[in-house]
Amino acid sequence: MVVGGGFGGFNALQRLTKLLGPDRAVLTLVAPTDYLLYSPLLPEVATGVLDPRDIAVSTRQALPRVKLVLGHVTTVDFDARELTVIGPDGDSTLEWDKLILAPGSVTKQFDIPGVDEHAYGLKTLSEAVYIRNHVLAQLDAADALPDTPEGRSERAERLTVVAVGAGYTGTEFVAQMQNWVKGIASRWASVDPDEVRWVLVDVADAVLPELGARLGKEALAVLAERGVDVRLGVSVASATATSVTLTDDEVIPSRTLVWGAGVAASPLIARLGLPTAGGRLVVGADMTVPGVEDVWAIGDAAAVPDLAADPSKPTPPTPPTAQHAQRQGVAVARNVAASLGVGQARPYKHTDLGLVADLGGFDGVAKPLGIPLTGPVAKFVARGYHLYALPTVSARVRVATDWLYSSVLPTRVVNLAQVRSEDALIKKAQAIDLYE
Ligand SMILES: Cc1cc2nc3c(=O)[nH]c(=O)nc-3n(C[C@H](O)[C@H](O)[C@H](O)COP(=O)(O)OP(=O)(O)OC[C@H]3O[C@@H](n4cnc5c(N)ncnc54)[C@H](O)[C@@H]3O)c2cc1C
Repeated sequence: MVVGGGFGGFNALQRLTKLLGPDRAVLTLVAPTDYLLYSPLLPEVATGVLDPRDIAVSTRQALPRVKLVLGHVTTVDFDARELTVIGPDGDSTLEWDKLILAPGSVTKQFDIPGVDEHAYGLKTLSEAVYIRNHVLAQLDAADALPDTPEGRSERAERLTVVAVGAGYTGTEFVAQMQNWVKGIASRWASVDPDEVRWVLVDVADAVLPELGARLGKEALAVLAERGVDVRLGVSVASATATSVTLTDDEVIPSRTLVWGAGVAASPLIARLGLPTAGGRLVVGADMTVPGVEDVWAIGDAAAVPDLAADPSKPTPPTPPTAQHAQRQGVAVARNVAASLGVGQARPYKHTDLGLVADLGGFDGVAKPLGIPLTGPVAKFVARGYHLYALPTVSARVRVATDWLYSSVLPTRVVNLAQVRSEDALIKKAQAIDLYE
């Protein structure tokens, strides 16, 4: 039984299918969606470079042997070996013999007034699609405003986007959206592309700290050159529907607040009654959960010890990245199969292959295997890495084809308005409200 069909769960099931024949194991996945979401490419869905379906890899197609139960697991009874699922048609109880927990993470919101009601995350397809449509709607509304003092002040609110968190989510989002909007804004008669204001806020003193100081500075230079207002060393004090107040008391008029300030383990983890570290489930290096039998946990939800980290320091958990979740999925499958007498269990150890960040246009920063790259070369490497990491051939072909079309055809600007704003707010879109 696998909980969560993201990078960790999907890869675990794919490998289990190979290791254990149908006579050895019944494989079940509980997940709220019938696809793996390739989240590193979400900013490209927000800009419309990619179609949402391009990055939603069908579990039914890729894992035909796996029984898919749609819904959220809300409780796990480790003694009775049962779990409860809230699905589209109500609650159900499922039994398991071996359990892999891979429910991932949710956007960390902190307790800041107004963020619950006015900020949008970028972790699900509905959020990416909503943000895109919302930004287009702001351009429409700004274009229709009269040239009066009230009209001008509302125009500033509508043409300002504030993104919080200068890690890969916030930085890639701002960089790619700015590049997209700059290219399309002249289609609105009264909007000057330079009038749209982008603000990137982070309490830390660097952009993209995951990539190190040098590449962080490069990314900062790209953003500054494009006119993005990067505010480091400050955070958000409060937000309303029309403004964002920073901790240095500056009030930024804005109707678009995008929240990418870190992640927290799925709220399911806090409900299990098991030890956690930094909110993630404590597990051993073999990904077993201490104190309960036949349970493993991986990915963003688990604090898997990083055996590849500097041995002279206390062992940190592996960072919450797709790369680790994917490899932990493969490794946990081996260990689960070993518990059934197939092969040998091993601790998880993986040296980071490095991160890549696409900054839109021909810009990017990347550090594959420790080699720092910038500009078009980094962008090329970033795209190559994503094509390699997408889990199916059909997903790779769809993404590559859309990249090709986007480079030669006019940029897509239609607003399909499929997602209602109340459904796109972080708690609803990421199902956090299910656990309250
Ligand atoms: C915008 C963005 C950009 C990113 N860019 C990069 C990048 O460039 N490189 C990189 O390495 N990482 C990147 N990441 C991080 C990466 O996506 C995560 O680290 C990775 O998805 C973690 O994998 P996971 O399997 O733990 O969780 P997920 O992939 O999030 O999968 C968890 C799954 O569990 C489901 N689930 C949640 N709760 C329950 C429940 N109660 N019951 C059943 N199912 C449940 C969720 O719906 C989800 O499908 C990015 C993330 C985002 C949001």
